[in-house]
Amino acid sequence: MKHYDVIVVGGGHAGVEAACAAARRGANTALVTMKRDTIGVMSCNPAMGGLGKGHLIREIDALDGIMGRVADAAGIQFRLLNRSKGPAVQGPRAQIDRSIYRRKMHAILGAQPGLDIVEGEVSALRLGAEGVSGVTLVSGVTVLARAVVVTAGTFLNGVIHIGDKRRQGGRAGDPASVGLGQYLAGLGLRCGRLKTGTPPRLDGRTIDWSQVETQAGDDAPVMLSFLTTGPTARQVSCGVTATNAQTHDIVRKNIGRSAMYGGHVEGIGPRYCPSIEDKVVRFGDKDGHQVYLEPEGLEDDTVYPNGISTSLPAEVQEQYVRTIKGLEHACILQPGYAIEYDFFDPRGLSADLSVIAQPGLFFAGQINGTTGYEEAAAQGLVAGLNAAAKALDLAPAEFGRSDSYIGVLIDDLTTRGVTEPYRMFTSRAEFRLSLRADNADQRLTPLGRHIGCVGDVRWEKFSAKVEKLDRATFALKAAQIRPKDAHSVGIEVSQDGQKKSAFALLGMSGVTKSQICTLVPELRDFDQTIQLQVAIEALYAPYQDRQNADVLALRKEEAHRIPANFDYKALSGLSSELKAKLQAVRPDNLAQAGRIEGMTPAALTLILACLRGGQRLHARK
Ligand code: FAD
Repeated sequence: MKHYDVIVVGGGHAGVEAACAAARRGANTALVTMKRDTIGVMSCNPAMGGLGKGHLIREIDALDGIMGRVADAAGIQFRLLNRSKGPAVQGPRAQIDRSIYRRKMHAILGAQPGLDIVEGEVSALRLGAEGVSGVTLVSGVTVLARAVVVTAGTFLNGVIHIGDKRRQGGRAGDPASVGLGQYLAGLGLRCGRLKTGTPPRLDGRTIDWSQVETQAGDDAPVMLSFLTTGPTARQVSCGVTATNAQTHDIVRKNIGRSAMYGGHVEGIGPRYCPSIEDKVVRFGDKDGHQVYLEPEGLEDDTVYPNGISTSLPAEVQEQYVRTIKGLEHACILQPGYAIEYDFFDPRGLSADLSVIAQPGLFFAGQINGTTGYEEAAAQGLVAGLNAAAKALDLAPAEFGRSDSYIGVLIDDLTTRGVTEPYRMFTSRAEFRLSLRADNADQRLTPLGRHIGCVGDVRWEKFSAKVEKLDRATFALKAAQIRPKDAHSVGIEVSQDGQKKSAFALLGMSGVTKSQICTLVPELRDFDQTIQLQVAIEALYAPYQDRQNADVLALRKEEAHRIPANFDYKALSGLSSELKAKLQAVRPDNLAQAGRIEGMTPAALTLILACLRGGQRLHARK
């Protein structure tokens, strides 16, 4: 019988990251997955990154994870979202060639020392006196391990819906995992059903591209990995079109035939990726919704129409697709569908993603109620590192809300749970001025090196970068500039004779790097990447102190009592979604309110201000 330190079940985005992370930490690891061929398959959209999600990829990458490097190798269009806003909320995003992604993923896994890939379906866990001790495959084979990470995605008791047709399946083309689903449910863990959906896939040769707008990538592409210097695949444009009144009419007329609206699906779907049915029902007054036509690959004519996911019958999908400009003759290669699957309440997990009730068992990815490749990969990384820690008796890998989006994700899941598929947003992070995509390596690579998951190549590159950053920052802080010298290069400061450091000047709005280079010529010795990074640090330095103080103040107020009859509906500035949740939960205090899923720091501050106002009124009476 084969004996490993760690077994990872599932070769999706959580699974590959977990398996590589465990192996990087020195654990002898097996990745057991249904089909070797489907490792690295992207079940839904051919894109990675974006707001919040791009931050997660950078953090995974900073810990020497694989998602960023693979996405860069497969990237056929790169865009930095929110480019016009501050760096804290900018998110790098890449359009992905699915087949290059899979090939590159297989190559990286194949080259990872200490990692075996085993093809097979896990149907049960082996439980020993000290907890989980391995897995049993449908074939009857048993594989032993000291720790097991389950990353079964949308496969556990998965049911695919198209209109009123339903069948078992983990995603299009793959069987559901019924045996493992039943086994895990039998362990007595709290579980529920969620759902997600995907649009029909179109044949790009039948799209009239002359009728749709073109969206090109950035001229200066921003990569997802700190190790990549530029794209390697040919770069392409996407198309943009929109639904219209006729599209909405067809959807409206057939709404009862949608699996979602016809009462065939019991699971709750992601509000942030609404289906075309949701859009028509919830935002019926809108004339149209944008549809992005995303190529699935350079050698593949399949096009992913982002924005029209659906569970309507196939013939209705064909009707409404053909009302859209440019898609009048479009052929559907695969109809859109909804999928329902089991998930387990993540409040049953510790912060290391181990299942509290089953020592040695870890869960990561969509099984914990999240949605998205990046959220899955981030959890996979954490579970893999900690499964290795459990197996080899190493220190756990811990992440907090103040050091990473990974920490925010884990804390949200394990303390608040989920009521709908959870996805990452920058608004979920209280400390987002410091949790930026650009500084993920500075926040996390030293930690990763310390716990033994960052290799020499990355460490050397990172150390050289930090050494340059330190020198550049030191030079700028040491250079004390007189107001008249600042004025001489066009920087307007008060002429009060008070010197300011070049670092402080660089952080001022409108001040350019070239102005600072004139004042501190040694800045020119540093390459553009270092100059840009120092400029970002300078920009945020004044806000950083303020943010830290705000967070401390908010924490002090967290014990504040909220009266039982507090009228959330009367609070203008609070979203109707949060009002409804607060009305339903009726938290006793701000700390409880803060744990409600979807709660934002801004909303808490609003409630706090109102409580204070009420108290002042009360005191005056
Ligand atoms: P998966 O990528 O699902 O991988 C699970 C892996 O486990 C597979 O390799 C499978 O073969 C393996 N496996 C399962 N059971 C067993 C077993 N018993 N034994 C061995 N191996 C097993 N995300 C978004 O962000 N936006 C969207 O709009 C979106 N829409 C989606 C629509 C659909 C139809 C689907 C299916 C997914 C969608 N997703 C979407 C979600 C995204 O695909 C997942 O969040 C992500 O793939 C989850 O990663 P994972 O590693 O948890 O699981």
